Amino acid sequence: MPDYMIELRNVTKRYGPIVANDHINLSIRRGELMTLLGPSGCGKTTALRCITGHNIPDEGEVWIDGKDVTNVPTHKRELGMVFQNFALFPHMTVFENVEFPLMIRGLNKAERRERVMEALRLIRMEGYEKHYPRQISGGQQQRVGLARALVYRPKVLLLDEPLSNLDAKLREEMRFEIRDLIDRLGITAVYVTHDQAEALALSDRVAVMNAGRIEQVGTPDEIYDSPKSRFVADFIGLSDFVEGTVAAVHSDQERAVIRVGGLDISICARPDISSPGEKVLLFIRPNNVELLPASHEGGQNIFSGVVHKMTYLGDRADYRIIVEDELQLRVQTDGKIRFHEGENVKVHLPIEHCRVIVE
Ligand code: ATP
Repeated sequence: MPDYMIELRNVTKRYGPIVANDHINLSIRRGELMTLLGPSGCGKTTALRCITGHNIPDEGEVWIDGKDVTNVPTHKRELGMVFQNFALFPHMTVFENVEFPLMIRGLNKAERRERVMEALRLIRMEGYEKHYPRQISGGQQQRVGLARALVYRPKVLLLDEPLSNLDAKLREEMRFEIRDLIDRLGITAVYVTHDQAEALALSDRVAVMNAGRIEQVGTPDEIYDSPKSRFVADFIGLSDFVEGTVAAVHSDQERAVIRVGGLDISICARPDISSPGEKVLLFIRPNNVELLPASHEGGQNIFSGVVHKMTYLGDRADYRIIVEDELQLRVQTDGKIRFHEGENVKVHLPIEHCRVIVE
């Protein structure tokens, strides 16, 4: 059995002068939930349509389950699809909606009944067979949309912004339902979204896209903690960026010192920074910076600062701190100890959270 269920090999897709997918390489493992994440227009849907067969790439190949399907029509690719506008047929009951793909495929009545009931059990909607879409909630409609995509037991499930028509609370609930469903089925899934929280919560791995290209592929942790570019760091979560130059690289290559104005900040080195003098972008998440009382003494990467602004956000406090008159950092703490505007503080930049981006 091939290791990868889906492979995009050097896929390029143009619309006139627009390069919607620019030499994309992506390998999706069997049973994995891969999310394509990026801002509007970055090419997520185009890539998904290359997998479904609605787009034929101008260059490159699409492989599914070890076969080159680049020129295989959609209906022969054995895919289940759920789109943003999941549009159930309003004049059909829940049962009939889920049964529909099986009718098209010519399964007999007994088989259809068995499969529909199995799919409804899977999404915990048994008992709703006779309801019409208008008689069930938005979340339930979306679950029926999922059942309809899964009823013919596809090899792969493709979801394009499937939750964007739901309100915020329901979206959050549905995220967990979808993840749970995919785990129970062990199916390979590709999920498209521009919502980073959704991507981090749902995915085994995330492919972050920008202007037709894939910038980084990694687990949610890797993408969040070790972004490889400013774009990825900026797109996912909050970031503080500080420009500096490499002052020293330790011989173990695991630590380096970055000079920012008059400050020396120790960081976890990336293997590709080696030469002192090199310009780099230092990056740290605001929730990884620690604020300490001004009386705190000693320690690595601890600097003096002044609270410029403080906003209380309920579960967090959001600060703008001027550090050693050199730079301004955004800091978020759990809000238990509150510092006030104008107060002197110490700012700790934990070395394990200080990273560099070489551009
Ligand atoms: P969104 O999140 O807004 O759906 P996306 O990341 O899915 O965006 P795509 O829909 O793949 O982006 O579009 C990528 C680029 O290709 C955009 O510049 C878009 O305008 C262009 N594009 C997409 N489909 C077509 C088309 N059928 N004809 C011409 N240009 C298109």
